[in-house]
Amino acid sequence: MSTKPPSNDPPCPRCPNGGDLVRHGRFYRKSQKKWIRRWRCNLCLKTVSRATSELEFGQKKRQFNQSIYFLLCSGVSQRRLSLGLNLHRKTIARKLKFLAIKCRFRQNRFWLKYLEAPIERVQFDEMETSEHTKLKPLSIALAVCEKSRKILNFQVASMPAKGHLAKLSRKKYGPRPDDRAEALNRLFESMSPILTENAHLRSDQNPRYPVWTRGTGWQHSTIKGSRGAVTGQGELKKVVFDPLFSLNHTCAMIRANVNRMFRKTWCTTKKAEALTDHLWLYMDFHNRILT
Ligand SMILES: [Zn+2]
Repeated sequence: MSTKPPSNDPPCPRCPNGGDLVRHGRFYRKSQKKWIRRWRCNLCLKTVSRATSELEFGQKKRQFNQSIYFLLCSGVSQRRLSLGLNLHRKTIARKLKFLAIKCRFRQNRFWLKYLEAPIERVQFDEMETSEHTKLKPLSIALAVCEKSRKILNFQVASMPAKGHLAKLSRKKYGPRPDDRAEALNRLFESMSPILTENAHLRSDQNPRYPVWTRGTGWQHSTIKGSRGAVTGQGELKKVVFDPLFSLNHTCAMIRANVNRMFRKTWCTTKKAEALTDHLWLYMDFHNRILT
């Protein structure tokens, strides 16, 4: 005898008209040691289960997802994870990619909240890191809500090497594109729906910043930089009151919790995309769990 699934089950996801689903046995998921009900569509005769529409569909090591997510946001490197969890390095790298997609989804849902209650005060700045070598620096433009310290958005961009490395960098790797302006542009564009019309933005005294806030209706005030505190990951400042505290504290947390962002580390980013993925993970962890 066939029984209809509970009414909260969607109709058949495989055919456009959505046929009725009837019970059709079960299958055993080895990784989680549990049985999962399978349904069959009356129209297309294909079988579906709750797993069909999951992002984890087809994964064989899904039981590790949560620990990998937690540890990647807690300063553990990919290689140490693979050693600790007895998984291949490639599995960890793939998990990072997968988890980034998942965190992106979650953070996009988070954004809907801001659409209902736009933000008034935002702090933004750029952090520096590198891909492969210090000769190939990357810049991370970051915007943080002043009140809640939640990360609103970030953008990764390549930038040319500075100072004594500039000449060597050009010699070894040729001219390096400077995408920082474009990244800031994308950052501000993405934030415009979630800021109030007369939002107040704060940043350091970088001369490039006022260009973006001009003509937007947002107020922009700049704060003179001060010396870093020894304990502040080079981000927290040695002053009694830091007007950019929310931003600097968030940057310090990124430096402390994302292995490739540590101040002194031999664990470097190899690809800018992987850095972006890792930052999505951290942003999600930061916004949901830490703040
Ligand atoms: Zn169907």
